[in-house]
Amino acid sequence: MTDFVVIGGGIAGVAAAAHLARHGSVTLLEMESSLAYHTTGRSAALFVLNYGGEGSRPLAVASRAFLESPPEGSVDAPLLTDRGALWLAEEFQLEQLRKIAAEGVASGAGSRLLDRDEMLSLVPRLRPERVGAGLYEPSARDIDVAALHQAFVRIARRHGAEIRLSSPVTGLSKLGQGWRVSTPHDDLECFAVVNATGAWGDRVAAMAGIGPIGLQPMRRTAFMVPGDRDFARWPMVVDVDHRFYFRPDGVQLLCSLAEETPSEPGDPRPDMEDVALAIDRINQATTLEIRSVSSQWTGLRTFAPDRELVIGEEPTAPGFFWLVGQGGIGIMTSPGYGALIASQVLGTSPPEDLVRAGVDPARTSPARFR
Ligand SMILES: Cc1cc2nc3c(=O)[nH]c(=O)nc-3n(C[C@H](O)[C@H](O)[C@H](O)COP(=O)(O)OP(=O)(O)OC[C@H]3O[C@@H](n4cnc5c(N)ncnc54)[C@H](O)[C@@H]3O)c2cc1C
Repeated sequence: MTDFVVIGGGIAGVAAAAHLARHGSVTLLEMESSLAYHTTGRSAALFVLNYGGEGSRPLAVASRAFLESPPEGSVDAPLLTDRGALWLAEEFQLEQLRKIAAEGVASGAGSRLLDRDEMLSLVPRLRPERVGAGLYEPSARDIDVAALHQAFVRIARRHGAEIRLSSPVTGLSKLGQGWRVSTPHDDLECFAVVNATGAWGDRVAAMAGIGPIGLQPMRRTAFMVPGDRDFARWPMVVDVDHRFYFRPDGVQLLCSLAEETPSEPGDPRPDMEDVALAIDRINQATTLEIRSVSSQWTGLRTFAPDRELVIGEEPTAPGFFWLVGQGGIGIMTSPGYGALIASQVLGTSPPEDLVRAGVDPARTSPARFR
């Protein structure tokens, strides 16, 4: 018997395991032979406050303290490095820019509007004739995703959590006050189950006879192109209508079409037409003249119907907890939702720092779909 079973070894699963392990025995089950193989290993790794659903944004605010000062011994180097984010608008996109600027004020992002000259001094390779105005969020940072994931793994293991790879959950059934969780190797009995299976969230719930949330995985492709050391201080540049983005990554540029293509759970491969379209749009907006790609990958950003996270106990199945719908913000909000899900599994009040950050558990509760 284990107290808690966490299903899924992406960032959500390990964040939950790290926060639960100090309160009881935890077994984390991951179907792949390595952790973070799916969406978590394929992100753009940015912390940016002016992004994501209104109800989920406070989780990023609540995560900042952990990301800035992770628990002793959990990391070998800082998790965050300065980056900045620049929302780019042509003349015809100024209304959308004003909307994002207003959302930025509401989320405390500290962003400010820039004129053409200020934008060109930040990113000299923008084409002046394509620049209308911009919105700059100086506090946006790069996250070392692998190190953050590993930090949660270290914390979980330090408190005795067991992590099992190549252990797909194939069955879930109610067992008195708790649950029986089946894998091809054996059955586990536990008091509570946390479903942190990303794109597979509804399918895993169905094993327990629980109706779907309506999760929709969306493909997004990213790719690297050769860059230049001079670009290193540029911010991330994002088209306000999400038609493309790019940011320095070492001596390369990480680029994306920022597309959202509905998809099935799985292991998607890049569509080179998406890569070509992104290159075309970036070349139109800049003088980068991108011609070659050094690597490319595709991940699934999985959304609930209202695009807010889904965190908490399933009303129709006591002891079954959802931790899904992280969409495009699942890395930067992970310390916050890890703490929130742990308090819900334990039946305690949300931690004070989450409340202070404005986290309202009702906004992310699965009860809103029932
Ligand atoms: C191109 C791109 C850019 C992004 N940029 C950012 C960004 O800048 N900032 C940010 O915060 N977020 C970003 N994201 C989003 C972020 O990556 C996701 O929100 C996050 O990784 C989701 O984590 P997860 O643990 O829910 O899912 P996953 O990492 O997919 O983990 C789910 C795990 O569950 C396992 N699993 C599934 N079914 C079973 C089963 N039956 N039994 C056992 N295990 C199972 C899977 O194998 C998988 O390991 C980006 C995503 C993409 C694709």
